[in-house]
Order: sequence, then C-alpha cells, then structure tokens
Amino acid sequence: MATDLETSLSKHLSPLFPLTHNPHFQPGMACATFHTLHDSPYLTLSRLINNKGIKPLTDIIPDAEPTNMQRFNYSQLIHFLFTHPMLMKGSRDETQFEIMCQTRKTKIRLLSTMYKTLQRDTSTPRPLYITSWENDLQLKITDTECTQIFTNVFHSSISNTSYESNHKRISRWHYTPSRIQHLFPTTSNDCWRCNQPNGTAGHIWWSCPIIQKYWQTILAMIATIVTINLPMDPKVTIFLLLPVHLPKLQKCLISHLLTVANTLIPLYWKKSDVPSVREWVQKTESIRLMNEINLSLTNLYARYIQTWEPWLKFMQTPSRT
Ligand SMILES: [Zn+2]
Repeated sequence: MATDLETSLSKHLSPLFPLTHNPHFQPGMACATFHTLHDSPYLTLSRLINNKGIKPLTDIIPDAEPTNMQRFNYSQLIHFLFTHPMLMKGSRDETQFEIMCQTRKTKIRLLSTMYKTLQRDTSTPRPLYITSWENDLQLKITDTECTQIFTNVFHSSISNTSYESNHKRISRWHYTPSRIQHLFPTTSNDCWRCNQPNGTAGHIWWSCPIIQKYWQTILAMIATIVTINLPMDPKVTIFLLLPVHLPKLQKCLISHLLTVANTLIPLYWKKSDVPSVREWVQKTESIRLMNEINLSLTNLYARYIQTWEPWLKFMQTPSRT
C-alpha cells in the first residue's frame, strides 16, 4: 500500500490507508489507543473519516467516555489529516477486496473467494474522462447513458478507423489547447478556430461557434436523409445517444452518419475551418461500401439494404449537395 505522501504514488487513496505505523505520522501511535475502533491489524483512514469529513470523537467512541490519552491522540490525528488534505479523499466505501484484506482470520480457498467476488460485482466504474466531459459540457451523464455510450462505441462500425475515432474522442485522447496549456503553461489556450480563450475538449468538439455551424449542417443533412430532426445536443453528436423510440436500423444508419462527421473533425485539428459536406458524403460512401461487402459476405444483404436505403435514395437525388 502506498504510504508515501510526498511522492504521491497513487492518486486514488484507499480507505485502508494506515494511520498507525505510518512513518509520516511523526508522533506515532500505538494500535491500542483506539483498539475499540478497528478489528483490522491497524487503524485505517476509513475509521476516522466519512463523506462529511472527520468523524467527531463521540462518534468514534460512542459507548464510553474517552480517556485523556484518546482525546490527545484524536487531536494528533486531526492535525495529521489537516496537514495532508489529500487524505480526506479516501472516504469512499470499501470494496469487497478491501474488506477481505482487513479480516484477521486467513480465509480458506482465498483465490476462489476472490474470483467469485469479482464475478458477482456488477458495478460499472465510471471513467474519469466521463466526469471531465460532464464538467466541460455542463451536463449530467447517467450511469445508464454511460453504459449506452460504451455499447454504442463498441458496435459503432466495422471500420477500424471509425471505431478508433470513437474511442479516442470519448476518452479525450486528442490534445486540445487547454490540455496543451496544462502541460506547457506559457502556451495559449485559445481555440484555433474562433480564437476564444478556454479551448477545452467541450469547446473544440461542441460549443465552438464554428463547430456548432458544422453540426447544424450535419444534423440538417441527416434530417433530409432519414426525415428525423435530431436535437442539437452534444449527447447526440459526441456520444451517439439517440432517442430511444427510433427503430434499430434507423439508429444504426444515424450512428454511421454521426460517426463519420466526428471522424472528420480531427482531420481539421489546428485548422480554422471545418470539414465540408462533400468530404462527409465521400467518407460515408466508403463506410457504406465496407458495410455492403461485409454484410454480403455474411448473407445479410437484406439487412444492409434496410439500413442504408435512405442513404442510397439520397445519393440518387440529383439536387444533393
Ligand atoms: Zn472556438
């Protein structure tokens, strides 16, 4: 376990962080001082703090009057916690594995128990980049939407280019002006398109006035092709979260069209203009052709026709852009 606060070995502090026997807790403290608090071999951070902050001594020792030594040690611990504010971030619930680590008795069939625990765990951890998108775009992504985003990306396309593009965008792989400024503080964080400050991922992919016009154009084209007016919403354009009532094949086509639109944006990275409709049509045609070949080879040509029919009709329209 990382006890070295100075080198910040881990950003994700564990509730099992040791307070007794911790070399950074200079006064030192014997396990016996708060022996009623813990059944683990040492006193852990989780016994001292919760999501509201440091627990009062009356909560820690509810059934007995604290001794003077316990009061003194409690004051020492508070001082230690305030000296290292990062310790206050360790107030999450303990995982099953962490609970197991604190058990004094050695479990029999430990590996099997851990394997079963992992199998039972149905929680879906939320990646930090989803939280970053929420902060950037000032929106809330629910756990259901989070799961749907990854399902959409996984099934987005048989094209490796599209698949990779979706992964990179969602995981904020690209270097935006704000990210570059974070690495090199003397550089500007101005958007390269509109020259406004604070060129975050949210700005570059969505709120920049120039990229907003691009998305308006793409959504207007999609409305022409599939006769559905999708909302101007970053959940639709960036995360491919489409209205639930849409038929599956229609969602499939729209996902292809939006994925292509997103794939083209990095081609214009650090350029003042945005991709043209002509480029979008050409790239979509290459994806359609790949789908046609793939589904033909797997005897699913009927599904290809059903999915791409609106696009094929659009391509036959003489007046299309
Ligand atoms: Zn901009």
